[in-house]
Amino acid sequence: MQNELGEKIRKAAILNAIRHDGKADVGAVLGNLLGENADLRAKARELAPQVRQVIEEVNSTPLEKLKAIASEHWPRELTRERPEEQKKLPPLPNASNYQLIVTRLAPNPDFVLHIGNARAAILSHDYAKMYDGRFIVRFEDTDPRLKKSQLKYYDIIREDLKWLGCNWDAEYIQSDRLPIYYEIGRTLLVNGAGYICECTQERFRELVNKNAACPDRDLDAGIHVERWNKMLEGHYREGEAVFRVKTDLVHPNPAVRDWPAFRIIDTLRNPHPRVGSKFRVWPLYNLASGVDDHELGITHIIRGKEHLTNMARQIYMYQHLGWKYPDAVHYGRLKVEGMELSKSKLMKGLESGEYIGVDDPRLGTLAALRRRGYSPETIRQLIWDVGPKPVDVTISWDNINALNRKIIDPTSHRYYFVANPIATRITGVSKTYVVHAPLHPQHPEMGTRTLKLESQNHEASIFLAGTDVPVLEIGKVVRLMGLFNLKTLGISGGQLNAQFLGEEVGDIGKAPILQWVPAAQNLPVDIVMPDGTIKTGLVEADLAVEALGSVIQFVRFGFGRLDSLEKNRIRVYFAHE
Ligand SMILES: [Zn+2]
Repeated sequence: MQNELGEKIRKAAILNAIRHDGKADVGAVLGNLLGENADLRAKARELAPQVRQVIEEVNSTPLEKLKAIASEHWPRELTRERPEEQKKLPPLPNASNYQLIVTRLAPNPDFVLHIGNARAAILSHDYAKMYDGRFIVRFEDTDPRLKKSQLKYYDIIREDLKWLGCNWDAEYIQSDRLPIYYEIGRTLLVNGAGYICECTQERFRELVNKNAACPDRDLDAGIHVERWNKMLEGHYREGEAVFRVKTDLVHPNPAVRDWPAFRIIDTLRNPHPRVGSKFRVWPLYNLASGVDDHELGITHIIRGKEHLTNMARQIYMYQHLGWKYPDAVHYGRLKVEGMELSKSKLMKGLESGEYIGVDDPRLGTLAALRRRGYSPETIRQLIWDVGPKPVDVTISWDNINALNRKIIDPTSHRYYFVANPIATRITGVSKTYVVHAPLHPQHPEMGTRTLKLESQNHEASIFLAGTDVPVLEIGKVVRLMGLFNLKTLGISGGQLNAQFLGEEVGDIGKAPILQWVPAAQNLPVDIVMPDGTIKTGLVEADLAVEALGSVIQFVRFGFGRLDSLEKNRIRVYFAHE
C-alpha cells in the first residue's frame, strides 16, 4: 500500500517536472494527486512532507533522465496534450459602428521588421480577421533623404509578414501616390487651412516657440496656391519653402503647432529607389499617413503610443477636410531584455559591418529569428500575451525561449553533437553495434537514425564532447546514449582511453549519460551562436539527410536550425537550450 502511494507521488512529480523544465512544484503535484485520488483527500496534511521529499529527489535529477523514465513507464501521459487556455484579444473600440473593419500596417522600407514591429503587424492582421475585415499593408517611403527606403527591404518585409502568417488583402506604396497627396494639399490651401512658409527652419521654430505666426500665414489663399504651383514646378530649392497645416499656435506641444506637410527634396542628389528623380515635392509622415488612413477607409489604427503626438497633429487636418478620424488603439513600448531594437542603432551597426546582415543572430529582427529556428507561432503567442495594453512591457529571452521550446520540441528530430570533440578509444568491445536511435523519444512513429560502431580487435573508436571532460576523470563510469557503459582509464596524448563495462542501463546508477558519435561516421558542424561566435564539433552523419531549414535538437546542447550543407560541412544557427 505504502509503495503504491510512493509510486503515485513519483509519477505525478516526474510528469510535473517534465512540464516545467525539470522543476516540479509541490502545490501542483499535491493538487494533481488529490484530484485524481479522492481517498487521499482526508490525508492531505500527512501527504505533504512525503511529496516534498520525492520532489526534492526528482528536481535534482537531470531532465533528460526524467524524460527517459517517463517515456518508458508512462508514454501516454507524457504526450497527452493539456488544453491551453484560449487567449482572447480585447474587443476593438466602437467596432459596431463599422460595417467592415479595416486595419493597416504601415512600415517604412528603410529597414526590416523586428519583434517590436511584429506587434503592430500581428495585432492589425489578427483584429481584421477576428472581425472578418480587411488588412492592408502600406509602404511608407516618402523620405528619400533621411529615411531612405531600399528596394530589398520591401521584399524582406513581405517575407517577414508571410512568415508571421499576416497575409494582406491589399498593398499600397506611398511613392506611387504622390498625385493624391498633391490634390489634398491644393484643397487645404484653397480652404485656407494650409500655407507655404518661406521662413528658414530656425526662424519658424523661434516664432512658434513664442506662439507667434509665420508672417505669411494669413496671406491670401490665392498667393499660397501660386507658391504651391511654384514648388511643384521646381522654382524653390531644398529648404526654401515648406507647406504647413494650420493648427493652434498656442497648442501646449510646440511640435503640433503648424506642422510641416510637404517639403522639397533634391532628388537629383537623393534619388528615390523606386521613382528616381521624378518628384521634388515630398509629403511628410503626417500628411501622407493621415491622408491614406482616410482614403483607404482604415477604421482602426493600431500602433505604439509614441504616435499620440502624430494623432494630435493629424486631427487638425481631418477637421480642415471634414473627415472623421479613425478609432485608434495605442499600445505601450515592448522591450526585449538585452536586445537592441532601435532602428537607427541597428542600421549603424549594419553600415559599419558590425553585423553580417539583417539576419545577424545578435539582432531581434524577424529575419534573424527565422534563421535561428524560432517559430512564427512563438511570436504570435508572445504578442497575444501582451495584447494592445497601453503600459510598457519588458520581456526576457527566457520567456521567448520557453514559449518557443514548447512549440518546436514535439517536432524537432534529435541528434548527437559533440563540441570540441575528444577522440576516445574503447577496449573490450567484442562486436559491432548498430544503434537505431529514435528521432524523437516521445514519438517513435517519427522513426530512427542509425549510428554504427565498428569493433576491430575488440576495440572501438568514438568522439565524446570535450565539454564533458570534467566528468571523465580516471575510473569514472559513464553510459553512452543508447549504446553501452564504459569506465574511463585516463587521457593520454589528447586521447581518452576507456574500457567496455556492459550494456545494461540499470547497472550504472546515477552515472552520467553522454552523447557520442562514431569516429568512422560523422560530419563537421559549425554552430552559429546567438552572440555571433561559432562553436565547432562533430554530428551524426545522418543529420545530412534532414532538409535545409529543419529545426533540430542536439541532445544535451539545444535547438537550432539547419542553415547550410556545403562540402560535407554543416552549418547550424543556434536557437536556445
Ligand atoms: Zn514662414
